[in-house]
Amino acid sequence: MIDLKENISLKKYNTLRLDVIAKFFVEVFSVEDFLEAINSPQCKNFPILILGGGANILFTKDFDGLVIKNSLKGIKVADENDDEIILEVASGEDWPKLVEYTVNNNWVGIENLAYIPGTVGASPVQNIAAYSQSLEDNFVSLDAVELTTGKIKTFNKEECEFKYRDSIFKQTLKNKYFITSVHFKLSKKFKIVDDSYHSRYESLKDELKSFSKETYTLKDIYNAVVRLRQKKLPDPNKVGTIGSTFANPFLNKLQLKRLQEKFPDIQYYPIDKMQYPNLDDEILKNIEIVKVPAGWLLEEAGWKNKRSGNVGTHPNHALCVVTYDGATPEDVYNFTEEMRKDFKEKYNIELEYEVNVI
Ligand SMILES: Cc1cc2nc3c(=O)[nH]c(=O)nc-3n(C[C@H](O)[C@H](O)[C@H](O)COP(=O)(O)OP(=O)(O)OC[C@H]3O[C@@H](n4cnc5c(N)ncnc54)[C@H](O)[C@@H]3O)c2cc1C
Repeated sequence: MIDLKENISLKKYNTLRLDVIAKFFVEVFSVEDFLEAINSPQCKNFPILILGGGANILFTKDFDGLVIKNSLKGIKVADENDDEIILEVASGEDWPKLVEYTVNNNWVGIENLAYIPGTVGASPVQNIAAYSQSLEDNFVSLDAVELTTGKIKTFNKEECEFKYRDSIFKQTLKNKYFITSVHFKLSKKFKIVDDSYHSRYESLKDELKSFSKETYTLKDIYNAVVRLRQKKLPDPNKVGTIGSTFANPFLNKLQLKRLQEKFPDIQYYPIDKMQYPNLDDEILKNIEIVKVPAGWLLEEAGWKNKRSGNVGTHPNHALCVVTYDGATPEDVYNFTEEMRKDFKEKYNIELEYEVNVI
């Protein structure tokens, strides 16, 4: 039996700590709870918002509908052999805890995604990515309930249409399915090869060297990622924050050329990969559209460690918006829109939100 509440503050359910009100609110612990919630007569004809950890949502106003807080729990071994293991993880599990659990078991594949706040169910929505690893690299499939019919469908990797920090669940199927569980394939064999994603990432290598010696273990890689993130990024347990507020813009070669006239050393990347090639890498020569780092450009434009009233950007990261006590949704939205306006004026490029603006 679900406990449907009315007029609930979402302050403790979003990492920006914005005090917005949900007209209806329910926490679900099973698929049955979820079906009961979406079929409840009071909520019929109201929009539905599925909420994980609220680490990728920017509320701009109260939500006049039903917020469903996902608390489905459980981790099962679906299959395994000597080399690999497949885990089936319920979507309400905490992502950082899942990564820690896999590393403690010496299962390899998602260690670079350590410490990314949020739930397992939201991880395929934006195909979470960090330090040259993306969720899709170890993804097998997911189960999801269609909101309109209540039917369960399994999506394989292709059907999820993963792209860099993007998937079909952020595009055509946005708000259409509730992801209930995700299958991941992890390796039981750990080795670092020279051109692997681990060794490509300079800051990760430097961090590893600072506290450990080769040959590095899986736990070393995990610890290096956690240490780096603790140094560089705001901790949602300590400060209101939304992580990367904007997506890295895509530019055609002509736009890139114009930008390079001003910033000859600007880094740019392939659009579909979590990769940081050198500027003379072959991979960059034949592509027409590239992406450029929004954070770097915002920093050049003076947006690092900026504050206006109760909203600002993090001292180490111009892309991370942070809030202080008393910040309202309007304060935050005005601030982020100011960032976009300034970006457009300085670079003639539209900054798109990476977070879900609601
Ligand atoms: C400090 C900080 C650092 C971050 N660093 C990174 C990073 O390095 N890499 C990265 O990729 N992201 C990063 N993020 C973004 C964020 O952690 C991820 O997007 C994460 O997956 C959000 O999970 P969540 O459970 O909080 O999702 P929520 O914010 O609750 O939801 C996000 C979206 O997914 C939908 N959704 C949530 N759960 C489900 C479900 N079960 N079924 C269907 N739809 C669902 C929601 O409706 C919403 O549209 C960071 C955020 C913060 C605050």
